[in-house]
Amino acid sequence: MNKRTLLMIPGPIEFEQTVLSAMAEPTTSHLAPSFMEAFGEALQQLRAVFESPSGQPLVLAGSGTLAMDCAGANLVEPGEKALVVNTGYFSERFASILERYGAQVTLIPASPGSRPSLEQIKSALESDTYKLLTLTHVDTSTGVITEVQETAALGRQHGVLVVVDGVCSVAGEQLKMDEWGVDLALTASQKAVGVPPGLALLMLGPRALEAFNRRTHPVLNYYADWTNWLPIMQAYEARKPGYFGTPPVNLIFALHTSLRQIVAEGMPARVKRHVIISRACKAGIQALGLDQVPVRPEFAAHTLTAPRYPAGLNGAEFLAGVLRQGVTLAGGLHPAIRSEYFRIGHMGAVTMSDIFATLSAIESALHECGYKFPKGASVEAAKAHQ
Ligand code: PMP
Repeated sequence: MNKRTLLMIPGPIEFEQTVLSAMAEPTTSHLAPSFMEAFGEALQQLRAVFESPSGQPLVLAGSGTLAMDCAGANLVEPGEKALVVNTGYFSERFASILERYGAQVTLIPASPGSRPSLEQIKSALESDTYKLLTLTHVDTSTGVITEVQETAALGRQHGVLVVVDGVCSVAGEQLKMDEWGVDLALTASQKAVGVPPGLALLMLGPRALEAFNRRTHPVLNYYADWTNWLPIMQAYEARKPGYFGTPPVNLIFALHTSLRQIVAEGMPARVKRHVIISRACKAGIQALGLDQVPVRPEFAAHTLTAPRYPAGLNGAEFLAGVLRQGVTLAGGLHPAIRSEYFRIGHMGAVTMSDIFATLSAIESALHECGYKFPKGASVEAAKAHQ
């Protein structure tokens, strides 16, 4: 029996066969010319994906949380002040990381599904002097997207480093790092970048590097210390050998393969494809009479959809029903509303047919759970967005 299901969660995602095949190649030495070439080119391609010609890319073995940890460890010195725009679970994780490195953190709150307004961010920036501000581009726990461009502009006006958690956005949502004045953005391999879990990806802007070079205290994390990694990244980009810790060779070959495809598609086309697919998915959900966690349409990300369950529906039963139809979806994550919603990821190589299959599976499961809706309405509504 074919046990394969369609993986429609907000990471890991469905990966291209070419990317998976790259992982299955015989492992080379991390100093082999073919590996230096692949790693070097991948680093250059990352600048195109982050839209950061002036950035310094950094690729580490680890997940997105390591990328956040790495940003916190290298940018924060004990006693410094940081402002965290809080849109949910992952914003709060960033606050905890910054606190661990000795920052005094101020959170700008928002209820689940909402986001702090630019006025709130502006007045927070005016009320104290902060070294950095963190912003979760897409908070995967709520499906809320933040206003990175406008927030970065406010950050610039106040001389604050702007750090963007782009784990659920980079290579899917529009993020023009240099043009918008973002000082550091980070992601992980398993979402819109389209590579199995295991890589932390960071892009350090010139101001972030200047702040790092001005540090007076040692970085309190040995593995993540930029002092160890910057010469290695520079060596690979120059196609020269370097060693600090063994790089995850096969994952980097896979990254190289995926980045080539992303660069060939081009970021504007890729962002547009994510927008169209997201609109189709959201229209389908709406046609079934389901609400969504983002409280306004313009707060909703394009990399995932977070529908609320109809009143009285048993979420676990529903998700099991969707799985019986061959589609894997994710449950809720934000602690305050966890049992009230589910999440559909649509990133990377996702196609419109994946959305149709997902909506059909959702319809079947809703029907099994006794929820009444116009049969076929979701796929019809989604088709209107093709
Ligand atoms: N930030 C965001 C916005 C995320 O979605 C995630 C993962 N879902 C993380 C950080 C943490 O990444 P990881 O699970 O790879 O450690």
